Amino acid sequence: LTQLFRPLDMLGWVYRTIRQGLIDMAAMFGLMDSEVEVQDKPGAPALAIRQPNITFDNVVFGYEPDRTILHGLSFHVPAGGHIALVGPSGAGKSTIARLMFRFYDPWSGRILIDGQDISEVTQDSVRAAIGIVPQDSVLFNDTVGYNIAYGREGADEADIVSAARGASILPFIEKLPKGFDTEVGERGLKLSGGEKQRVAIARTLVKNPPILVLDEATSALDSRTEQDILMTLHQVSENRTSLSIAHRLSTIADADQILVLNEGRVAELGSHAALLERDGLYAEMWLRQQTETRTETGAEAVLAQ
Ligand code: ATP
Repeated sequence: LTQLFRPLDMLGWVYRTIRQGLIDMAAMFGLMDSEVEVQDKPGAPALAIRQPNITFDNVVFGYEPDRTILHGLSFHVPAGGHIALVGPSGAGKSTIARLMFRFYDPWSGRILIDGQDISEVTQDSVRAAIGIVPQDSVLFNDTVGYNIAYGREGADEADIVSAARGASILPFIEKLPKGFDTEVGERGLKLSGGEKQRVAIARTLVKNPPILVLDEATSALDSRTEQDILMTLHQVSENRTSLSIAHRLSTIADADQILVLNEGRVAELGSHAALLERDGLYAEMWLRQQTETRTETGAEAVLAQ
């Protein structure tokens, strides 16, 4: 009987891994399951990762035949490197993340992970290699432990505790009356935005993926919580290759590379210091956000009086 159950378990794992990817992507980008249209090639092998580097090689893509969104995009992230995508709304930042997750295949050009064209390998293996931390995570009406363990089939208690510690939510969970067995969600304990995001980070840590896609828009959180979460995200990104979609420039100043996307083209690419020096689009965006932050802080100070 166990022999019958093992393949079924395996199916369950594959199903849950894909579901989780879809749920996280839906949370991140408002995608519907029905939008998934990419098919694996017959006999496609699984992605095999030794060095999780990412290459976009002249990628051209659009959602509709007569509207090109990415116009020949090229960039490279070495294994363990961090790239941040910035740019005006509609520039194509989320589209890059969707393509990496293989929700669509490019019209032309290639996306390579560790030298392998992701359109030539199975979607499941690509999705298993990438962890997503959406800004607004979906939690299940189940225990905190279940919500964390969901990241990987076979995760044991030690894995779950270690992931919670890594996501800096262990002290919070240990103080709950039933600890990891506390029910959360609509029918259980209501978690704050920051706590929910930490559970999502713990879930990703349990999955232990070599590549991370982070949506750093944490506008729903107060600035103290945002700073704390960002620190955790930076720790979690160490020793992994990461791609962050950044809305606030202050959060990505220490990325190795900042890619400024404008209308589906690389407008600028470089470190924070190099881009400020260049005095182009990034420098302009930086200056504008600094002024806005100062104005907001000023307003808060007035309100506090
Ligand atoms: P934002 O910062 O506002 O999230 P973005 O840089 O992430 O923007 P994308 O979401 O990648 O931008 O969108 C790039 C372009 O693609 C936009 O013009 C958008 O209207 C279009 N687009 C996005 N999703 C779809 C879709 N499913 N079908 C058709 N067009 C789409």
